Amino acid sequence: MEKSFSESIETVKTIYDFSKEELQILEKIDAASEELVVSEFDHYLKREVNEDAPKIAKKHGILGLTVDKKYGGLGANPMISVLAGERFGQVGLGFSTFFGANLGLAQMAIQMWGSDDQKERYLRRATAGDIIMAFGLTEPEAGSDPMSLKTQYEKKGNNFVINGSKYFISNGSIANAMIVFARSKETPTEISAFLVDTNKNGFNVDMRLKEKIGLFTSDTAMLSFKDLEVPEENVLGTLGGGMYVAYSSILNGRLGVASACTGVVQDCLNQASARARERIQFGKEIGKHQLIQEHIAEIAQNFEKARWPTYITALRAIEYNKTQNSDLVRELSHRSAMAKKIASRAAWESADRAVQVFGGFGYSLLSPVGRHYCDSRVTRIYEGTDEIMELKIAQHILGKEFRAF
Ligand SMILES: Cc1cc2nc3c(=O)[nH]c(=O)nc-3n(C[C@H](O)[C@H](O)[C@H](O)COP(=O)(O)OP(=O)(O)OC[C@H]3O[C@@H](n4cnc5c(N)ncnc54)[C@H](O)[C@@H]3O)c2cc1C
Repeated sequence: MEKSFSESIETVKTIYDFSKEELQILEKIDAASEELVVSEFDHYLKREVNEDAPKIAKKHGILGLTVDKKYGGLGANPMISVLAGERFGQVGLGFSTFFGANLGLAQMAIQMWGSDDQKERYLRRATAGDIIMAFGLTEPEAGSDPMSLKTQYEKKGNNFVINGSKYFISNGSIANAMIVFARSKETPTEISAFLVDTNKNGFNVDMRLKEKIGLFTSDTAMLSFKDLEVPEENVLGTLGGGMYVAYSSILNGRLGVASACTGVVQDCLNQASARARERIQFGKEIGKHQLIQEHIAEIAQNFEKARWPTYITALRAIEYNKTQNSDLVRELSHRSAMAKKIASRAAWESADRAVQVFGGFGYSLLSPVGRHYCDSRVTRIYEGTDEIMELKIAQHILGKEFRAF
């Protein structure tokens, strides 16, 4: 097992008792990550979406990591999930983004809100790796404020007909099915979630966004829907209850981003300290120059800052899953916003420091730290921007009446 990953597992043992089965799942995650490193590197250099990654994940049987065993998943809890996220973050945020959109945003929404029939038709197949899923909330004019979304649905016979567009959708052009959020034409205050098959007439991939500043191995697509028909049995959750579905997914998503960012920091620490030990300038290892030591020390501190809020949020999520105590939902929303904000900032700063330790080679996509540098920027934007996280955190402390967004 990768050394720093087994060290993380040992650290978590101070606050959590792993079962034998959970340790075996983490070994699976590690084996998959080993194989993904090479594949991600190849595709990154070609600046192309890594369509082999889902196949590798399927081969290792990890696509349904947190899905109930009843639907073919591994049934892992949030602590196992954040450790897996940490390991994937070391591999790179491209794979983490694919995995998070497929599982944390889409599959987990179906597990939580889906009917038995929807779980058989979508969750089981996504878990087996037979379909890929995406989550479509953001629109050209609705990002931080998803309540302003404009995509519309109206009832026609036994179907709903959807018209509109979605922007920046991870897995958007490779997905076989996705969750689409839309507003009722008849009752505009109602937003609903729909399970949409992407091979249906009226589902269009307008653009695969290649002109990104990183995250090349992850698919990001702009989509539009023209008279897209969705059968009524594909409403996810209750009609009009779409935002409950969205917020529960975003909560999973934020914890997922926090864990992946923790992994990025950890890889920056591993890579920068190895480089500091090996690279000789002015007749000695650069790690013996004190200013390089400052970078190493700061990245090490970032790792501690990133991981503990993430682990503690995972423990609270386990408690919530056991008790369903509704008071915990607010706490989880607060903690996942903090974990996401702290870890994404830590990842971005650590990647910057690691590039500095590497010098010129760091400013190249051939170096892992160069790739982390390009990729980590988006973690301060997707699943809620830095600013929205700050406002959410402050609102939790000050009270509802201080909501500023
Ligand atoms: C690579 C990538 C993948 C993505 N994947 C998905 C996906 O799979 N599914 C999906 O639905 N979306 C996805 N997104 C979209 C992402 O969630 C949004 O980009 C994000 O929520 C921000 O929205 P926006 O880009 O419209 O920015 P805007 O909302 O326009 O924000 C612009 C700036 O204004 C600030 N701002 C906005 N409101 C306030 C306020 N009230 N107070 C202070 N500052 C404010 C923001 O913080 C930001 O700095 C993805 C985005 C990217 C880049």
